Amino acid sequence: RAGGMAVGGPERGGGGGGGGGGVRCSRRACVLLSSLAVVFLTSLFFSVSLRGAVGFNYLEAPGWEESRRVKLVPSYAGARRPALPADSAGGGGVGPPQQRTCACPRCVGDPGVSDWFDENYEPDIAPVWTKDNIELPSDVYYWWVMLQPQFKPHSIHQVLLRLFQVIPGHSPYSWWDQQRCLRCAVVGNSGNLRGAAYGAAIDGHNHIMRINLAPTVGYEEDAGSRTTHHFMYPESAKNLAANVSFVLVPFKTLDLLWITSALSTGHIRFTYAPVKQFLRVDKDKVQIFNPAFFKYIHDRWTKHHGRYPSTGLLVLFFALHVCDEVNVFGFGADSRGNWHHYWEQNRYSGEFRKTGVHDADYEAQIIQRLAKTGKITVYPGK
Ligand code: C5P
Repeated sequence: RAGGMAVGGPERGGGGGGGGGGVRCSRRACVLLSSLAVVFLTSLFFSVSLRGAVGFNYLEAPGWEESRRVKLVPSYAGARRPALPADSAGGGGVGPPQQRTCACPRCVGDPGVSDWFDENYEPDIAPVWTKDNIELPSDVYYWWVMLQPQFKPHSIHQVLLRLFQVIPGHSPYSWWDQQRCLRCAVVGNSGNLRGAAYGAAIDGHNHIMRINLAPTVGYEEDAGSRTTHHFMYPESAKNLAANVSFVLVPFKTLDLLWITSALSTGHIRFTYAPVKQFLRVDKDKVQIFNPAFFKYIHDRWTKHHGRYPSTGLLVLFFALHVCDEVNVFGFGADSRGNWHHYWEQNRYSGEFRKTGVHDADYEAQIIQRLAKTGKITVYPGK
């Protein structure tokens, strides 16, 4: 749109042929060059990623990198991890847990298994945006509103208050319970699921978390048929069965307006792309992914590799904060190094890795490291 703006304005001075052609020529060249420069700069400015994100990294204030290393003040209502006995602090390397947080053979939340994990893991940060944590810390707010900047200002507080008249606005996740073993499958969309026959294993979990399109009909044997949580953003949203929790991953205030509209009046049909006017999901099960949690993953885990973490990684960390055991399916390349989706015929489309927004290789390293420390189990697929 901006690329079509008039540049250069009307010609000044008597055009005509004759003398001064050299000057006219160089003026034209100047106008042409400056037009090109403007078009280049505008397209850079509006370089829309696959999700419509805009790169504004250069707007970050100096010292930003350092300030993010400071421990976040978690925006939570109360601790989920039981208090540790005084002598159980610290603990190095990979070892047996010093405190059991669940009844599974291995529990995600157990401290003392990996220094790297313990240093970065914030057990009490709230993954869901609720009535209790509407206000975002200012650093989170400024980071989040710049993810996909909008030119129309909205009061997030007002927007959320309206949204929470339509959906419950509570977190359904309970505190850790040493008697519980909540097993979760996080199912990414990688083509490595094709032919892997993980369907039964996936379906055997308590929570099964899927992302964006993630079809199951026709892919039951490889990808399973059950879903308890489906994570989507407006432009990827689809209708869900009544017993499935829709977790909206918001990238902009308009996304919050859209979900309110899609569950009520239907007045929003377009964000940066056409979106569903009405969404058929269970309103009582809609949850909103907390931007503070989003930034926590970007700061602590992906450490600013990529402009922001992929939806799949956001979901993996969501699971690491609400489940006791996390098993990961459908992430990364297939055995031939392709990054397509499991429903795509074209193995070479390489979609996920080429978004330019996420650092797929760095995310793969984090996933590997989590697996190595025993915090998750990765099913590599085919
Ligand atoms: O492509 P889409 O975003 O719908 O896929 C969901 C998630 O699955 C991604 O965000 C990514 O984390 C993961 N994925 C992957 N490898 C692929 C395709 C998707 O790790 N080849």
